Amino acid sequence: MQVIKEYVAEKKEKLKKELADKKLVMVIVQVGHVPASDRYVRNKIKDAEEVGIECDLINLPETISEDDLLVQLHILNSRRDVDGYLVQLPLPKHISEEKVKLAIAPDKDIDGFHPLSKTTPATPLGIYNYLKDMNYDFVGKNAVVIGRSNIVGKPMAHLLLKESCNVTVLHSKTKEADKAFYLEHADLIVSAVGKRNIITPDYELKPTATIIDVGINQNDEGKLCGDIEQDLPVAFQSPVPSGVGLLTRMSVIDNLIELSK
Ligand code: NAP
Repeated sequence: MQVIKEYVAEKKEKLKKELADKKLVMVIVQVGHVPASDRYVRNKIKDAEEVGIECDLINLPETISEDDLLVQLHILNSRRDVDGYLVQLPLPKHISEEKVKLAIAPDKDIDGFHPLSKTTPATPLGIYNYLKDMNYDFVGKNAVVIGRSNIVGKPMAHLLLKESCNVTVLHSKTKEADKAFYLEHADLIVSAVGKRNIITPDYELKPTATIIDVGINQNDEGKLCGDIEQDLPVAFQSPVPSGVGLLTRMSVIDNLIELSK
């Protein structure tokens, strides 16, 4: 497997060429200023601009009402000059994320959160595209997805099933002995939980296993870490940071291109 950082750098170069004669426009809607969101938004704008996409930021005050935000989205839905847009999450507590996800027109939905969206949620799509580009042989592999959220775990399981993996989805109610059993037999593990030490060296794993760590957590020193202890004795383990986050960012662009077609 190629180092994710290098893979993404190469992919950006390819996209830059592909988009050279196109004029794509995306919009990011941000409500308020959560420091982590500010960083994600900056990165998304940087990625877009690097490959030649115009990316406009609509920054709305944290105090905006849910109704007023929905009106803004309604306006964006009808803008023909905008190929797609996303609303940066999390939103302030007084705004329903579910209502917002449903208010985004499916044909403008970069994040793929709307149930009728034409696009796949960015994180599972990024992982899938990376594995595909690495010529990962999915057929008949035992894939274990840990976590069953609508934006990561479930769509990830769906994509792997589509590629003829034998997919098992674990979650907070999975019994420890079953988890150990499934992990021991897993060829591909995708962890999307948001808790540290979901897999430690105590688990028996296949030395040929591929591990993709989606989780974003903080260790005792306050540094970013994934769900899974680093440097496990497997064939490939994606790092955190500089892992799935980069793949997710690429899918934002892939989804925008898909929407523009
Ligand atoms: P989520 O909606 O909170 O879902 C977490 C899932 O983990 C739930 O399905 C939950 O099971 C399951 N779970 C909780 N404790 C567990 C345990 N001890 N063992 C097994 N499963 C357990 O989170 P999410 O939105 O999917 O995100 C997951 C993580 O990925 C978070 O850290 C998030 O920040 C990160 N993330 C990273 C990126 C990126 O680009 N790098 C993108 C998206 C998300 P139940 O359903 O039973 O409650």
